[in-house]
Amino acid sequence: MNQQEMLAQYAIIAKREKLLPIRVTPFYQQKINEEVATIGYDGPLYKGSYPTKERLNLRAPGEVPDFVQDHSNMPNRLRDVVIQKYDNRMLFFPTDSCAGHCQYCFRTRVLSEERAMGKQLPDFQQKLDGAIAHVNQHPDIREVIFSGGDPMTIHPTLLETALRRFRKETAITNIRIHTRTIVFTPGVYRKNICELLGKYDVRVYFHIMHPYEVCASVAQAVDKLHQQGVQTYNQFPLLRGINDHLEVLTAHVEMLDRLGIRQISMFIPDPINYSATFRIPLARLFSIIDEFNWKTPSWVNAGRVVMDTSIGKVRRENIVEWDKNTGKIIFEREGQRIEYTDFPVELDTPGDISKMLWKTKREK
Ligand code: SF4
Repeated sequence: MNQQEMLAQYAIIAKREKLLPIRVTPFYQQKINEEVATIGYDGPLYKGSYPTKERLNLRAPGEVPDFVQDHSNMPNRLRDVVIQKYDNRMLFFPTDSCAGHCQYCFRTRVLSEERAMGKQLPDFQQKLDGAIAHVNQHPDIREVIFSGGDPMTIHPTLLETALRRFRKETAITNIRIHTRTIVFTPGVYRKNICELLGKYDVRVYFHIMHPYEVCASVAQAVDKLHQQGVQTYNQFPLLRGINDHLEVLTAHVEMLDRLGIRQISMFIPDPINYSATFRIPLARLFSIIDEFNWKTPSWVNAGRVVMDTSIGKVRRENIVEWDKNTGKIIFEREGQRIEYTDFPVELDTPGDISKMLWKTKREK
C-alpha cells in the first residue's frame, strides 16, 4: 500500500472510529519533509503526524475507545468545558481545536466528538462564566489548567479575558497552559503574547515529544517567554518508534535543559483503539526508564513516569497486581482500582535508533 492509499484508508477509519483527521502546520511539515527526504516514511515526526501501515493494521487486546474517560470527570453542566479529577486543580477547555493533530492523541474522544456529532460548543463567554463559577463553588481549587484542544490557538483577546477573569474573579493561585503550538507554530509567541503570559504569571507546559521538533525558531520562541519571566515545563508520551530508546530520551531531556525547560512527566500511552503502533510492553518501558535513571544525571532524570486514567495519574509503584500470562495489570490509587491490559511482547518491535535519531547517527 503506498502513502496515498494509506491516507485514504485512514480517512475511512478515522471517520468510523472518531479518530482525528490529519492536520499538519506548514511549519511542522517542513521538518517532516526533511525527514522523509532523508530516511523515507519511517521517521519519528512522520509517524507522529501521519498514519503508517502498522497504525492502520496492528490491534492489541484490551484496546478501548476511551480509556481515560474524561467525560466521567466533567461536571454535568460543564460538559466539554471543565474536568475535575483532583480537589485542588481543574482543567478548563477554552477550545476543542488544535493547531496540528497528533496520531498518538489520547484525547480524541473530547476533540473529535464535537465535530463528529456536528454539535455547537457553548460560546466562549458562556464556557468561561461556567468555569469561573465552578472554581468559586469549589474553594479547594488552587490551580486552573488551560488544556483542550490547544489553548494557545484561541484569539489573544479571548486568552487575555480568560486570564484576567480567573486572576480577578477567583482565589486561584496558579494558572497553567498546556500547548503544542511551540512546535507546530512557534510564531504564535509574539512579544505581546509573551508579555501577556508573563503579566498573568502563567506556567507554560509544552508537549514536545522528540528532540527534532526543536529548531532555532522554537528555541527563540522559548527564549521570548523566558525574557518575560514565564516558567516553562515539558511533558510527553513514551511512544514506540518515536522515542522508545535511552539515547532519544537522553538527547531530548538534555536539549530541553539547554533551553531552560524543566522536564516533568513522561506518559505511558493509553490503550485506546488504534494506539497499538505507539504502545510499549510495560516491562520494556520500565527497563528503558531504569537505564535512563542509572545512566543520566539527576538534572536529566528527575521527572516522573505516569499513566493518565479515569482515577487520576498512576505510577509504577501503584501496580498491585500483574498477571504476566494474561497481561492484566491492576493499578490502585487512594482505594480506587483500574485495570490495564499490557501491550503484548510478541507484537512489540522496538523503535529503530538509526531512524529515531537519524540526524545524529548520520553526523557520526
Ligand atoms: S496537540 Fe495534544 S490534544 Fe491536540 S491532537 Fe496533539 S496530542 Fe491531541
